[in-house]
Amino acid sequence: MDVSKLSVAVIGGGIIGLATALTLADRGHAVTVYDPDPASGATRHAGGMLAPTAEVVYKQEPLFPLMQAAAQWYPELVALTEKSSTKPTGYRTDGTLVVARDRADNTHLEELREYQSLHGMEVERLTTRQARSLEPALAPSLAGAVGIDGDHQLQPRLFTQSLIDACANASVEFRAAEITDVSEVDADQVLISAGLGAADITGWYEGKNPLDLRPVYGDIIHVSVPEHQYPLLTRVVRGFVEDRPIYLIPREDRTLTIGATTREDGRENPQVQGIYQLLRDAIEICPAIEECDFLEADAGARPGSPDDLPYLGRVSDRVTVSTGYFRHGILLAGMAARCGAELVEQIAPSISLEACDPWRHRRDS
Ligand SMILES: Cc1cc2nc3c(=O)[nH]c(=O)nc-3n(C[C@H](O)[C@H](O)[C@H](O)COP(=O)(O)OP(=O)(O)OC[C@H]3O[C@@H](n4cnc5c(N)ncnc54)[C@H](O)[C@@H]3O)c2cc1C
Repeated sequence: MDVSKLSVAVIGGGIIGLATALTLADRGHAVTVYDPDPASGATRHAGGMLAPTAEVVYKQEPLFPLMQAAAQWYPELVALTEKSSTKPTGYRTDGTLVVARDRADNTHLEELREYQSLHGMEVERLTTRQARSLEPALAPSLAGAVGIDGDHQLQPRLFTQSLIDACANASVEFRAAEITDVSEVDADQVLISAGLGAADITGWYEGKNPLDLRPVYGDIIHVSVPEHQYPLLTRVVRGFVEDRPIYLIPREDRTLTIGATTREDGRENPQVQGIYQLLRDAIEICPAIEECDFLEADAGARPGSPDDLPYLGRVSDRVTVSTGYFRHGILLAGMAARCGAELVEQIAPSISLEACDPWRHRRDS
């Protein structure tokens, strides 16, 4: 087999499959993406924060280096996309503010800042006056704020359209087909990047599927900022309101994304309670949101794993798995694309993927 030019079948065209397909095509391989409806999964519903620092969760240390590497490599992925497509990506590097609604939220923010600093992340304590001079639309009564310059954003629906366009221009073939068994596809190498759908793809293991994937739903809202108020915000604003996390993502098309809840109730539609809570908390942080036009209430399912870490690794001489990106898949695409391509080429990945072993939750061994 000529490893410098492989035929690669990518099963699943969400952000992970598309970004990896483009990277593989750029490295000279013949790539086919199989997906009945590309970019229709979790990626379509995501907020699009690229937040290796603000998204830190206590006791998830194995995730941190993956998130940091992804953020570091993101400009490369965006540049690769822009090399083959002129479509907009919504990629912005204006930084992030995190604010606290009341004193208890401020204590939480300060504890988190200490934890982030302990892990070498750059977080700047700001007075609420400083925060409001950066973002005058913030509520005057906030209790605290920090600035995180290294946390960025993109617009997932735009970015996947530019990735699809870039892939097509880089000779990636698209087939509108659902694959249920990897032996159905004729290719030197296969990448399973089907998000939650990976749980139903067979042909690469004995017994039960070792991937322990579950849908973790999130409600999310899109509003439009009236012309006279634009730009309401100029950077991502995250907040804690009575300990509930919330984020507001301003876009260049005058929309604002407000997200996101976390629930495991199996209900696919946006839930009234979640939407109400998001709007109420968003207005607490930025009162002028009351005057925005309501555009869309949406909900999507994150592909969760038991330890919140992805499944990324080779599982046979022909198959590589890349799924389970849970709440960080937009960010982690910056890492998954590069390391996924390296795994397909059977070369050492640029970062240790030991914590991402696809077999680690195998139940029948
Ligand atoms: C409300 C919400 C907000 C989020 N916000 C953020 C955020 O701000 N930042 C962040 O980093 N992450 C965020 N996420 C998480 C992120 O969206 C996911 O981790 C990421 O989109 C996963 O991408 P994926 O390509 O693995 O899966 P998906 O986007 O789900 O794509 C899987 C694709 O595989 C296809 N497929 C499935 N089965 C098959 C099959 N058998 N054969 C062929 N194709 C198949 C599907 O059609 C789909 O197109 C959010 C998620 C949600 C729901």
